[in-house]
Amino acid sequence: MTTAQEVKTLTHFIGGQLVEGKSGRFGSVYNPTTGDVIAKVPLATVEETREAIEQAHASFPTWRDTSVAKRAEIVLKFRNLITENMEELLQIICLESGKTLEDAKGEITRGLESVDLAIGAPHLMKGEYSVNVGGQINAYSAKYPLGVVAAISPFNFPIMVPLAQTSMAIAVGNAVVLKASERVPMTALYVSELWKKAGLPDGIWTVVNGDKDAVNELLENPTVQAISFVGSTPVAKYIYETGSKYGKRVTALGGGKNNMIVMPDADLEHVANAFIGAAYGAASQRCMAISTIMPVGKDTADRLVAILKEKITNLKVGPYTNPDSDFGPVISQQSKEAILAAIDRGESEGASIICDGRELDIVKESKGFYVGPTLLDHVKPGMEIYEQEVFGPARNVVRVDSLEEAIELINKHELGNGVTIFTNDGLAARKFTTEIDVGMVGVNVPIPIPVGYHNFAGFKGSRFGEGHMFGPDQARFFTKTKTISERWMAGNASTASTFAFPSNND
Ligand code: NAD
Repeated sequence: MTTAQEVKTLTHFIGGQLVEGKSGRFGSVYNPTTGDVIAKVPLATVEETREAIEQAHASFPTWRDTSVAKRAEIVLKFRNLITENMEELLQIICLESGKTLEDAKGEITRGLESVDLAIGAPHLMKGEYSVNVGGQINAYSAKYPLGVVAAISPFNFPIMVPLAQTSMAIAVGNAVVLKASERVPMTALYVSELWKKAGLPDGIWTVVNGDKDAVNELLENPTVQAISFVGSTPVAKYIYETGSKYGKRVTALGGGKNNMIVMPDADLEHVANAFIGAAYGAASQRCMAISTIMPVGKDTADRLVAILKEKITNLKVGPYTNPDSDFGPVISQQSKEAILAAIDRGESEGASIICDGRELDIVKESKGFYVGPTLLDHVKPGMEIYEQEVFGPARNVVRVDSLEEAIELINKHELGNGVTIFTNDGLAARKFTTEIDVGMVGVNVPIPIPVGYHNFAGFKGSRFGEGHMFGPDQARFFTKTKTISERWMAGNASTASTFAFPSNND
């Protein structure tokens, strides 16, 4: 394992090999827990990215023509290698992301759900068949892989998101080029070794490390057929617009600003526990983290805020090496500064600070990128802290008078990733699930992230394009359907031309 003292120079993974970067440009990979630079990641040029795409393209036909059963067997071996190497993977994920061991374990487990679904790809590749659709004609539709497809991933789930973006793509017969987040590239390189050990042919799994240059080549290169992007909303929009302009199939998942509505009949002790885990877990660096709690009615709000204040004050922020830490640092110094500045602005815009994460010793003294748990009350629409995604532990209380008001506010917001309601009232829950304009909805569930065999995606500015991550929709997104009409005539075939449009009434 890399220690804080050594600064390792990383590579790409192209054609089944670790390949040194040629650009001379490098990004720094940090250990967010200590603030130390632990590695240098090469940032690929346009030419390096193009070569990687070409290698993937050359490998594709053999993989396309490999039986679905054999492909599934390799994916199963890959799955087993992940579990066999869990301890090492956990160390790498925690080292480069700063998340706690428990959280990293959860991430791997959820990532494996996507791999499990991909092992079932033979079932999802099945087409449809009709006999005698016309005179001695049978018709069938079948799913074929697209060719070279690209995945561009964010920093906050170094393994779960890349697995969700790529496992099905590989299982259905594509060659994948992953542009991993340059802030957590070590996990993707480790995963590359596992694919190789599982027997995946060279060139079917490629990791190009890089930044905008590599991404732009993936968007523009005509060989790349589809783009699966996960990241922030402005970049997601750019990826969708640019990829679509170059004729690609694109799904681009963006950020979230997720709400938890609390009805007056809910058990507030239970709600507070649910909120704290969902809001502050992973230092709030989850697209499905709860950003805002919306208690309905003044009495509910006053009682809830009092319970939250006590519980949040007792949270422990620290390194993943301390098993008592509830959450660790955020990803970078830049991110830490942006979160602290967002809290300052929330305060100056009129929010009241219930718990102040700026004041913790670890925030002021550590070189690690820590921000303490912060709760702002009386947050209102129009304030920046309400409107913008804050990717760190600054969370809001927005007080509302009714369920109708809560639904109206949430539906008006630009983002629509996840939302949840806590209540014992079935009618209120039904009204909420019917009227809310958000992609992933919970009832008495703190983080409504669907299991891996259900489709996952938000609405509005949280997703551009129609595809989903996770779920059976992945098999549709990464394949194209051909419909084939086939006639084999017995005896004397008719050679007469017919000029009428075929009606198939014979
Ligand atoms: P990001 O948008 O900064 O980066 C994501 C990827 O895009 C990275 O690989 C990065 O190198 C690349 N990129 C960044 N700027 C680019 C540019 N200008 N041109 C081309 N490529 C660019 O996101 P992040 O900070 O790594 O991740 C956090 C964000 O991701 C949050 O907004 C979070 O909500 C979102 N996210 C969404 C989901 C979801 O399912 N909706 C899941 C995880 C994370």
